[in-house]
Amino acid sequence: MRMDKSWITKHRISQDYISGVKDFLDFAFGNIKTDMIKCPCQRCCLVKYKIRTEIEGDLICYGFLPTYTNWYLHGEELDFQEQRVRLEP
Ligand SMILES: [Zn+2]
Repeated sequence: MRMDKSWITKHRISQDYISGVKDFLDFAFGNIKTDMIKCPCQRCCLVKYKIRTEIEGDLICYGFLPTYTNWYLHGEELDFQEQRVRLEP
């Protein structure tokens, strides 16, 4: 299932963005059965592991990484078409 990611580039206090953050967290924590996942905010850049409430705060404060649109680190299948383009020499 493809998730709607148009909210990623919307304003961080908009209703669309805030409900998008919640959808992302539901998606990620539903797929990965742990307490901590890699934080996709612009400050952590998918390096730090954080709990749900911390990530929610980070995403509102710092914004979602705009380049992270295929959530393969959070249980989404790789977009093979996108991947093939990237791997071509
Ligand atoms: Zn973060």
